[in-house]
Parts: sequence; C-alpha cells; structure tokens
Amino acid sequence: MTGSPFDTIVAPITGPHPAPVAIVRLSGPESWSIASRIFDPWPDPVVPRFATYGRYPHGDDGLAVPFDDRSFTGEQSVELSLHGATISVRLLVEVCTRNGARMAEPGEFTLRAFLNGRIDLTQAEAVAETVAAASELQLCHANRIREGALNHPIVRIREAVLAAIAEIEAHVDFSEEIGDLDRTGVAGRLNALADELMAYIAGFGHGRMMREGIRVAIVGAPNAGKSSLLNSLLGSERAIVSPTPGTTRDYVEEAVEFGGWPVVFVDTAGIRHSADEIERIGVERSRRQAAIADIVLHVIDSTVGPSIDDVHIEGRRIMVANKCDLAPAPEGLLAISALTGQGLPQLRSAILDLAVSASPATLFVNRRQHDLLAEARLAIEEARSIISQSLPFDLAVVHLHASAEAIGKVTGETASEDMLQEIFSRFCIGK
Ligand code: GDP
Repeated sequence: MTGSPFDTIVAPITGPHPAPVAIVRLSGPESWSIASRIFDPWPDPVVPRFATYGRYPHGDDGLAVPFDDRSFTGEQSVELSLHGATISVRLLVEVCTRNGARMAEPGEFTLRAFLNGRIDLTQAEAVAETVAAASELQLCHANRIREGALNHPIVRIREAVLAAIAEIEAHVDFSEEIGDLDRTGVAGRLNALADELMAYIAGFGHGRMMREGIRVAIVGAPNAGKSSLLNSLLGSERAIVSPTPGTTRDYVEEAVEFGGWPVVFVDTAGIRHSADEIERIGVERSRRQAAIADIVLHVIDSTVGPSIDDVHIEGRRIMVANKCDLAPAPEGLLAISALTGQGLPQLRSAILDLAVSASPATLFVNRRQHDLLAEARLAIEEARSIISQSLPFDLAVVHLHASAEAIGKVTGETASEDMLQEIFSRFCIGK
C-alpha cells in the first residue's frame, strides 16, 4: 500500500457501472471538508449518519451521508450517492481527487477498518468473502465471521496460550516461592487447546467444499450410464451420451447446487482395461480425478452387474446400480435410473451426507487460517510433550511463543506489513 494511512482516499464502492445508482466513498480526515466543497448544500452542522439531498459540480444529484469514526473504516468518511452512469461516477471521483483526495487502492477501505481497530483480519477476509459469495451458505457463513464468530474463540485460545506461558515462566523464575509446576494440569490444558484448534483446522475441508464445491468423480465401466446420470443430475443434456462403449474419452466437469452446497460432478472416461491408447489415457485421467475427488460415485450397470473393470478405488465412495428400470439392482447398492430419475433424490442426499456430515465443525477456516492454526497446534503439541516428559520448561515456552505468534497472525494481532499487503491486495478497489 502506498500513501499514509491517514490521508483521505476516494473510490466508488458500487459497480460495475453503468447501474441505476452508484455510491462514491471518501474516507480520511479531510472527507467532510472535501465533500463540503463539492456537494451543495453541505449540511451545517454536520449530523453523522443523516442523509442530505444535494447536487454535484457536474450537475448530477443524490444523497450525502457523513460518518464520524463510527464508519466502516473507523474514521471520518462520506458516502455520496449519484446516478450510476460511468461518466457521472468518473467525474465525481475526479472532482474529489482535484480537491485533495487520493484514489483508494484495492482493499484500502477494509485495511483502514483493520488498522483503526474496527475489525480483525478474520473479519476483513470475511468482507471479501461476503462480496464474492455465490451461494446462500457462503453468504451466511461470511456474515457470521464478519460478526466475529471466528475472532472471539481464536483470541480466547491465544490468551490461554499466553496464560500458560506466564504460569510456566513464573515457576521457572520463582520455583522456590510458589513450588513446582503442576505439569499434569498444564499438559491437560494444552491438550484441550490443541483439541479446540483441531476443530477449527478440521473445518477447512468443509470450507473448501463450500467455496469450490464438493468434488464428485463419476466412475464405472463404459456404458454403465455415467454420462446419462450426469445429465439427469444436472437436468440438461451436456455430457455426450452414446450407446458405444468408451465415448467419454476425457472428463467433463459441471457444477450444481444441492441444499446450498455447490457440487462439482466430474464425468470421467469409463474405467476399463483397454488396449486403445487414447482410451488408456482417458482411463488414467479418470483414476486421477477419482483420487482428487471428495467423493467417488461408482456407477454399476444393473443389467451387467459389477465387472472386473470396476476396479477398486480408494476414498469415500457411493456405489449405485444404474438402469434399475431394466434389471433389479444387485444386493446392497442404491438403485437408480438415469433414464427415469428413480433414486436420484436419495443419491443427492447420500452425497451431501457423506461429504458434509463428516465433521461437526461449523466454522470453515480458509487456507491461510488453516495453515497458521495447524502450525499453532503443532507448537502446542511440542510444548505439551516437553512438559509431560519433564524436559526443561524454557523449551516449552519457546514453542508456546511460536504458537501464540501463529494464532495472532490469524486475527492480525501479530501480522506483519508484508502479510497485510498480501491479504489486502487481493481485494477489489472500493472494498
Ligand atoms: P457411460 O459410457 O457410462 O457414460 O454411459 P452412457 O451414459 O453413455 O450410457 C450408455 C447407454 O446406456 C446409453 O444408450 C444410455 O441411453 C443408456 N442408459 C444410461 N442410463 C440408463 C438407465 O438408467 N436406463 C436405461 N434403460 N438406459 C440407460
């Protein structure tokens, strides 16, 4: 980020333009003063959070809402609404910069909110997630994190780690006065903290599925009905269906939403021992897709039954017997028909149950948070093991400091300038 965090910045906070209405935000100590020169009539006295109707120098009109430090950025600001013509927005931003404001950089409003102590880093990241949310589930989750659902427990865990450090250090410094350290008690408390961190770490897999989709690789022998099943699940005719075995040579990827969760189906080439070179490559690809999927949906042809081509595939798997309109499903398999739609609602539920109910974690950390929390947990484990083994305490303290440092980076308490730059530069302008 360039510029002082205390100059006055401006940017449209709506878009893309043209749009019926747009809002341009000024933020920084000169916001009211700049607005008073370009908005007529500027209210006198200024009443924060009250809208005034008026006109801009280029002739457009709209509302000005001044904020004191109870603003999004935690500093004086003004939100200026106007008609959303691209030219109108540009002219208003230009008049603001001519009057002393600087164009805001990507994420700079949110960075200021963080630097001014309005929000922590988890909330700042949730602002970006709120804007990018593509499903109701993502939106609800981002809203909860913005409200502090992750910040509060993480801050508490860090405080508990710091308290453990203080307790251990007190025993190192004043063992004669206060007696020996209760090793079992401290180890137990560290264990509980590691478990608590684990619950958040486990939420990462769910978070990835929420953001990128539950990956379901459809595998099975050629002609089992994989492409037909994909089409039925999608409700359209996208994958190529052919009665000739081995038509789906590569893989097709399509996304749908089940119960608020995005689900990405990957239709792979039929898994079959094949001499044909092109098909062999396709088979290899489907094995790879199955390996990286969250769920493998294994399709068996009821009219044929399981064959030697139904190679064993590792991972979480749902086995379905397709074409149950033609022949009864083999014992124990979910009977479906891609043609008639029979069994598809049960299949949808089975996919969600298998993918989403694997962990009770309800907060889904992102990759950055996951990596830091995993690092913090490992350091706590090291400290706990040192304390349990009666090794020198100061070694445990070193690990606990490392843990507190990593946890602090999640909320931003111990974030470096570079880290902030890296996080906020991924935001869009106006956020
Ligand atoms: P894939 O090679 O596994 O992708 O199989 P396809 O989806 O191309 O299907 C192979 C053939 O089986 C096509 O002629 C489909 O119309 C037919 N088929 C697929 N599913 C069903 C089903 O549930 N019932 C019936 N009767 N035919 C099906």
